Amino acid sequence: FAALIDREKRPGCGHDPLVTTEFPSATILGYPRIGPDRELKRALEEHWAGRTGRAELEATGRRLRAESWRRLHELGLREPGALPSNTFSLYDHVLDAAVMLDAVPERYRGAADPYFAMARGADGLPPLRMTKWFDTNYHYIVPEIAPRTAFRAVADKVLGELAEARALGYETRPVLLGPVTFLRLAQAAPGAPGGFDPLDRLDDVLDAYGELLAALAGEAAWVQLDEPILVVDGGSPAVRHAYRRLAGLPTRPRLLVASYFGDAGDALPALAVAPVDGVAVDLTHGVPRNLELFEGRSVVGGVVSGREVWRTDPDAARARLAAAGATSVSTSCSLLHVPYTLRGESGLPSGLAFAEEKVAEVVALAALGPKAGPVPVPPRPAGEVRAESRGPYEARAAAQRDLGLPALPTTTIGSFPQTGELRAARSAVAAGRLPVAEYEARIEAEIARVIREQEALGLDVLVHGEPERNDMVQYFAEHLDGFAVTRNGWVQSYGSRCTRPPILHGDVSRPGPITVRWATYAQSLTARPVKGMLTGPVTIVAWSFVRDDIALRDVTMQVADAVRAEVADLEAAGVRVIQVDEPALRELLPLRREERAGYLAWAVAAYRRATSGAADATQIHTHLCYSDAGEVLEAIDALDADVTSIEAARSGFAVQEFSRGIGPGVYDIHSPRIPGRDEVVARLRRALAAVPASRLWVNPDCGLKTRTYDEVRASLANVVGAAEIVRKSL
Ligand code: GLN
Ligand code: ZN
Repeated sequence: FAALIDREKRPGCGHDPLVTTEFPSATILGYPRIGPDRELKRALEEHWAGRTGRAELEATGRRLRAESWRRLHELGLREPGALPSNTFSLYDHVLDAAVMLDAVPERYRGAADPYFAMARGADGLPPLRMTKWFDTNYHYIVPEIAPRTAFRAVADKVLGELAEARALGYETRPVLLGPVTFLRLAQAAPGAPGGFDPLDRLDDVLDAYGELLAALAGEAAWVQLDEPILVVDGGSPAVRHAYRRLAGLPTRPRLLVASYFGDAGDALPALAVAPVDGVAVDLTHGVPRNLELFEGRSVVGGVVSGREVWRTDPDAARARLAAAGATSVSTSCSLLHVPYTLRGESGLPSGLAFAEEKVAEVVALAALGPKAGPVPVPPRPAGEVRAESRGPYEARAAAQRDLGLPALPTTTIGSFPQTGELRAARSAVAAGRLPVAEYEARIEAEIARVIREQEALGLDVLVHGEPERNDMVQYFAEHLDGFAVTRNGWVQSYGSRCTRPPILHGDVSRPGPITVRWATYAQSLTARPVKGMLTGPVTIVAWSFVRDDIALRDVTMQVADAVRAEVADLEAAGVRVIQVDEPALRELLPLRREERAGYLAWAVAAYRRATSGAADATQIHTHLCYSDAGEVLEAIDALDADVTSIEAARSGFAVQEFSRGIGPGVYDIHSPRIPGRDEVVARLRRALAAVPASRLWVNPDCGLKTRTYDEVRASLANVVGAAEIVRKSL
């Protein structure tokens, strides 16, 4: 590390990139790109609406890139190669990698704009699939690889950004998604023979990477190849093969292989046998084994978390850098996953750091250098989780019979259309432009309308429609102690879509009832049962930034206790049916298979802690927006809810035997299409082949907040009609 300190004294800028061989002492693996005020989001949406041309969109991209580099340079990333490039994206960096390799499926090539056609679909052409980027809340476009995909290097974007930065006076380090991660995240193209694995095409993809690296050889001193899959796969033969080939190329820049999202220790030996010039490792949860194999090469220590929002403890970070033998300091992963800056925020807890503040930390740590000391261990969960349970299902079902529900009861998932007026009223009351009493009167009027609509449709278990909620997690965060919400802390979820995750910063508690007043108001308007509607503890923590000083399991248990108190208050207020949604149960699944059972055990325990205080006569529902078979389905069963509604129509999932009430969605709410009554009848008959009528519920796939009232009325009328037809034939 002495070398690192020495380099601090050398002139920074103005090096010939080809002469600089040492890796910069401070860097970041990537940066947000949506814009500090979501400029890219607006530019994209204007462009998609046809109001601006491609040139205007590109100009916004150029401005955002220039502004990011300028800011990062100002914050202290001044050595050549310290600034990353090619981390910008108009939609998604995995899609960009597919374009860079010319892996564009044939059917998109004729579209007016193949890039956005793959991302979002275009006249009659559905988009490519989208899925979660590792265990983050970012979503990427899944590339499609066929046995005959003709890979070739398409270097314009990466060379373009490099030249753009150079024209501004910055020597950058291009970042490319690595070949192994690219193929591992891809899926086989439709029509590929069974057993075809995109990884079978590794050698052809490596040819294209070889061309790219040759093109970059005279242009950049270092190139970063992102291989987060190293953390999942361990030392796969593909890694060894890929990096032997790439590092063995006669003409190439220096190669930094970046692993992140966990401990890459198992994969390091496979990587180390290749003559790559450096490795970046995630040190936020410990120091991976096998780093000594990189002695003499650059070891970039990711000690500043790229996905949590807390300040870095400098002593702990320096101790980890020392233990890892790190030669440079960096973030653990791209800063894509945190908001831009704390500037402009107020009322937030202390101890936070967003992207800009994290860059300053990296720079400060590089100046201090490593220092031997005790290496901190991550917090361990406290104590055992009590297994909680209510009476057996049969006893509960008997106690719930006085709800008077017919066979095949009809219900919805919770939300009704969120109108523009509701959103406007919400921002007006937040800005103090609308008196609270006036706002609440509007919410009550909306609830009354939702109840009327449902009675007219003839639904059996009603909902209040969730008109008071901006978001199913943020709403609860705003009403619980221990959470803070930001003004502008947006994080990209996918494409132009951003979320503003709440920050769980302290012990969570519930100062008072949250939903009781709306639920009881709704119940006062009807003789039919109204379902109380809560978000579950796992989903609340999954969609928030959480504290890192106690284990996630313990954080989740605190939230579970708050939900449990709300369940008790709803029950005491006479609400007989309570739904606790857990759409994010699957999202927190650990990347490593061997850690999954442990996670699911505590996640299920948290849900049961939230719900097991309910009396047997109270009917507990849960809802999940997917229905994969296997380990997650088992966990869903273990939640022990009386009724589980899951997505089935969109995914074509056929419900299997289920030991309690089950409502496989009968139509897809993501599309404006109205399901036909006969189509719903057919679905119900199919479900009845697997589930007895006494346990089958009839409901849509998910909440209705994105639909219009016209669509909802027409769709639900057919759903209710279908249930009546099938009931008669029982
Ligand atoms: N109750 C929520 C709603 O209906 C559930 C949303 C979800 O599953 N994501 O909107
Ligand atoms: Zn859902």
